[in-house]
Amino acid sequence: MSLLIKNGKLVLPSHIVEADLLIKNGKINRIDSCIEISNIPILDAKGAYVLPAGIDPHVHLLLSTANGLSADDFETGSKAALAGGTTTIIDFITPTKGQHLLEAYQQRLSEVKNCYCDFAFHMSIIEWRESIPEEMEACIKEFGITSFKTYLAYQKTIGISFVTLEKVMIAAKNLNAMVTIHSEMGDLIDKLREEAIGLNQIDLNFHPKTRPDYTEYQAVDKIIELVRKTNCKTYIVHVSTAESLNKIKQAQKEYLPIFAESCPQYFTFNESVYTKIRNEALGFMMSPPLRSEENRKGIENAIIQGTVSTLGTDHCPFTLNQKQKAKNFAEVPNGAGGVQHRLSLFYSRFVHTKKLLTTDMAKLTSSNPAQFFRLPQKGEIKVDYDADLIIWKEQSITIKDQLLYSQSDIDIYANEQIKGKVDIVIKAGEIVYQNGKLEDTLPLGHYLYRK
Ligand SMILES: [Zn+2]
Repeated sequence: MSLLIKNGKLVLPSHIVEADLLIKNGKINRIDSCIEISNIPILDAKGAYVLPAGIDPHVHLLLSTANGLSADDFETGSKAALAGGTTTIIDFITPTKGQHLLEAYQQRLSEVKNCYCDFAFHMSIIEWRESIPEEMEACIKEFGITSFKTYLAYQKTIGISFVTLEKVMIAAKNLNAMVTIHSEMGDLIDKLREEAIGLNQIDLNFHPKTRPDYTEYQAVDKIIELVRKTNCKTYIVHVSTAESLNKIKQAQKEYLPIFAESCPQYFTFNESVYTKIRNEALGFMMSPPLRSEENRKGIENAIIQGTVSTLGTDHCPFTLNQKQKAKNFAEVPNGAGGVQHRLSLFYSRFVHTKKLLTTDMAKLTSSNPAQFFRLPQKGEIKVDYDADLIIWKEQSITIKDQLLYSQSDIDIYANEQIKGKVDIVIKAGEIVYQNGKLEDTLPLGHYLYRK
């Protein structure tokens, strides 16, 4: 299928150029100052930015938890992503104890039904055994999984120790793979939570109190030591404190291969949300928790200064009913949605306010995730790359006044005013979203084999 986009402001990695762009067979075929071809559909993008479509490196769809499945499966989650201008998502495989990584991969792949985004997985390493390095190598070679997720929180279930983390990092370094880390001191948090519950301190505001900011940055300190020792490419997910980012910035000055992801919730909200009425506060129960206003500003500044390399969402919404069932703060399923709003929230806070450029938006929401996670032919407007594109429009609108696709009845961003949103979304050369809604029939996404 062919499509000619005329007169758009194409957001290339280093600059913006006003040009025409020809799409053929789902790929970007030609970029030129003026392309004239008859008999193909033409889209006039005069005055509008044309960006590489979003790549969300951190989503959890159809996540199985003690409180049941998360609210969005691959169908509703990918629709929400597309409607927000994100055409590629990276989800997770979490093996059970003792399960071979390849078996876990097969099982997770069988759970993907009607996914309209292209997708890939990070493989979680939840324990050590002698065969793990070989299993990791097989993940890379057989299934194109080049990134491995580890958790330092959740010690009683999927969390690992720093000793195991070091082994994973050595294995990953030998395989030239990326290790991604949920950085929280799990044992310390478990102790604080048990103490609080023992004292009947069960209200929601004990969630942030039992995960104080030092539980994140102390773990970051130890991770930096391990990066120095192993030189493994390391990516810290959902960084939520200013001090963690200070430490990462220092490590980057030493040229250590350490990178930070943050998420819109950490530059949008602060911990005051936990004092809202219970039904509202429940929506904000996530780990790491929302932090002080000082931390929120710190995240914003670190994004402006370039310490944060990517923006993910950690999209993992639950229904209000699932969250309401909890008898204390520790029982509330953790997570919130956001995949439909990531680009709008970034644009409104950073680009509309002229703190960052449109090229920075492309970098954090698309090109950097593509580069870090080795997504072939994605993340840039370049000849022969996938024609995954968005046409952007300045528009002042409240989030809840858009057509929303998440299946959760909670949207923590509902009352946020945004200043820009996608006008048209093109995936593999096909228009999948326009006039404020998704097309009735959508092409299925593909599993991305990474190299
Ligand atoms: Zn996550």
